[in-house]
Amino acid sequence: MDTALLTRWITGIAETVRANRERLTELDAAIGDADHGVNLDRGFGAAVQALAEEPPVSPGALLRLVGGTLIRRVGGASGPLYGTAFREAGRHLGSLGDSPEVSPAELARALRAGLDGVTRLGSAAEGDKTMVDALAPAVRALESATASPAAARAVAEEREAFEAAASAALAGAEATIPMVARKGRASYLGPRSAGHEDPGAASCALVFAALLSAVND
Ligand code: ADP
Ligand code: MG
Ligand code: MG
Repeated sequence: MDTALLTRWITGIAETVRANRERLTELDAAIGDADHGVNLDRGFGAAVQALAEEPPVSPGALLRLVGGTLIRRVGGASGPLYGTAFREAGRHLGSLGDSPEVSPAELARALRAGLDGVTRLGSAAEGDKTMVDALAPAVRALESATASPAAARAVAEEREAFEAAASAALAGAEATIPMVARKGRASYLGPRSAGHEDPGAASCALVFAALLSAVND
């Protein structure tokens, strides 16, 4: 997995966020302040532009650039949280020497570092009705599907690993519907937050769907 693949990923996220902008904003209208789609559209649009202006030379540098751009350009809770996820994933790869290619197992570990960054910053646990409810199961699925030695894995199995991550994120997002929010704006509603999908979990499912598409391209 190289910078070309990860650039396709980020570009794909920007496209799917744009296509789902109204849906994400409607989800946020129900339990938040109706800006999630707009926030992410601005952020990932800026990330694509940053990648085009200064193409990074390694997956780690790319993820750090995307993270920094999201932190700077997206207001609200989701900018710093998504930004931290990408930046911490990039820092993990930086700590390994920023090689120009990373394996799916290395990307899984980088995304684990991203998840750790999100929970450090936002202190949400699974079940709190946030993006963590989609991100955590997706990272777990990717980790377990890439745990066997690389030499034993066929290319088809690598695709299956990303399919498993995308399905886990989607299932995790759907599972937020009955939850009562304990973090973020939606928590102000208390029990009235139940019955609505969390917008950040929904967008996180889009992020992993875009990763699967980038791998399959
Ligand atoms: P804001 O709530 O500031 O308007 P957004 O609407 O862009 O920001 O993003 C809202 C999403 O951010 C929520 O749906 C939730 O998934 C996520 N979120 C909010 N607070 C937290 C937190 N403490 N930890 C993890 N995710 C959070
Ligand atoms: Mg909002
Ligand atoms: Mg807001």
